[in-house]
Amino acid sequence: MKIVVLGSGSAFSSRSRHNSCYFVEAGGEKFLLDCGSDAMRAMQDAKVDFFAVDRIFITHMHADHSAGLPAVLTAMHVLERKKSLTVYIPFSQIEFARWWLANMFIYNGRMSFDVALVSLRPGVLKYGGVELEFIKTRHLEKYAEYAEGFGIVPLSFSVIVREGAKKFFFSSDLASLDEVKSLLDGGVSLVEATHPTLEEVAALSRGRDIDIYLTHIPMELEDGGEWRAELKARFGIAKMNSVSDGQVIVL
Ligand SMILES: [Zn+2]
Repeated sequence: MKIVVLGSGSAFSSRSRHNSCYFVEAGGEKFLLDCGSDAMRAMQDAKVDFFAVDRIFITHMHADHSAGLPAVLTAMHVLERKKSLTVYIPFSQIEFARWWLANMFIYNGRMSFDVALVSLRPGVLKYGGVELEFIKTRHLEKYAEYAEGFGIVPLSFSVIVREGAKKFFFSSDLASLDEVKSLLDGGVSLVEATHPTLEEVAALSRGRDIDIYLTHIPMELEDGGEWRAELKARFGIAKMNSVSDGQVIVL
C-alpha cells in the first residue's frame, strides 16, 4: 500500500501545505481521500496522474476537504480523460453535489468522461484487493441544529483502508481524539492536528508502539513553531511525527 500526502495543511493552505488530499494505491486500486480547495494544484505538485485516479472519497463537505472537486474534474476533462470516475459524497449532501457540479457545467455527456456520484455511508466498501471502512465522527455535530433547518444530516467520516494485513487509518476531522483512540492500533495512522488539544496530541504518543503521523497541520503548529518545544517542556515528548506535502508512506 502506498499513500502520497498531497495536502497536509489545515483550512488555510500555506506556501508549503495544501488543503486535505491524499492519493492512495492499495490492492490494485487508486483513489483520492478528500479533495480540498487546491487539490488540482496539489496533484500537479506531487505529480499524481489525473488519469490514475479511479475514485474520490470526500470525508465531509467542509471546503478544505471538498471544494477542489470541480477543479479536479475540470482538469481531467481538459486533459481528455476517457475512463469513468466515481465520486463518493456524504449521503445527505449528494443532491447538493449533483446540483453544484451541474451549475459548473460538469455533467455526463458534456465532459470527456462520465462521473458517477455515489452516496457515502458508514460501513465497508470493497474493491479489488482493498477494503475501506468509513466510520462516522462527531466533527460536524456542532452544526446539527443549523443543518436540520436545511434537511441536512451533518456527516463526517474517518476511514480505515485495509489491504490484507496492512492497515492505514485516516482520521480526517474530529471533534476530539477520544472518538478514534480505539482505531489507532496497528498499521499507520494519519491523525489531524487542527481540532485536538495539545494534551490530546501528547497523549497519542504515550505507551503506543504504533506509527502515528500528524496531518492537517495548522499554521501555529508548523515546524519551527512553539508547539514542539511546548510538547517537550510540558509532556516530555521529544519526537512527534508529522507529514509534509509530497511525502510518500509505504506499508
Ligand atoms: Zn472539517
